[in-house]
Amino acid sequence: MADDKDNKAQVQLIMDLMISEPVKRINFMLGSMKIDGSGFMEVFNALREGRIKVGVGNIPANAAASYDYTDNVFDLPRANYGNGAFEKMLIVHESVHAIQDARGTYRPECPSPTRATVTEYEAAAYVAMAFYYRYAMQTPLDSDNPTRSAKPVYKLGDAIAQKLLRSGKTVVPDDDVMELRKAVAADQAYIDIGVKLDSLNFMNGIGPRR
Ligand SMILES: [Zn+2]
Repeated sequence: MADDKDNKAQVQLIMDLMISEPVKRINFMLGSMKIDGSGFMEVFNALREGRIKVGVGNIPANAAASYDYTDNVFDLPRANYGNGAFEKMLIVHESVHAIQDARGTYRPECPSPTRATVTEYEAAAYVAMAFYYRYAMQTPLDSDNPTRSAKPVYKLGDAIAQKLLRSGKTVVPDDDVMELRKAVAADQAYIDIGVKLDSLNFMNGIGPRR
């Protein structure tokens, strides 16, 4: 159990990350979503105001960290998580889900046919974390640790980031989005939680600004 002091340090670490140079440089469009510095700034503000919280423990099987869109909480595996670019990259992944939650419009009482899919939201998170790693480390993800980053979702996310960087474009082509969405749906961690290619997301907002 982390005490309150640890938790404050953890909140500060994520806030610092949200306004760090590598995160501020992330800027792309994937499907219906634009992921850029303004989104990460929203997460920074929500953390500062306590509308998004940070918890330690309570991680689902097969996940390094997670974002709980019901309670609006970053769940980290232990206190002091987020040292080094690899762990920070995984926090960036979860912070994309926090952005999606902040913009989420799901209401059980009024289903919307335009809700994005879980796999599309995951695809955006994998591309964002690949950009983060490249910007932070000046090297692609798989040159750091081939074993940890050999998962297709990591590799495809990085391939998309590389392609955009090389072309100077910011919009992820639809074919690439679909390829990454299929890789998410085929990943055991997502199969285990029942995610299918076309499952719709449940991002429901993080509450009003105070
Ligand atoms: Zn995710």
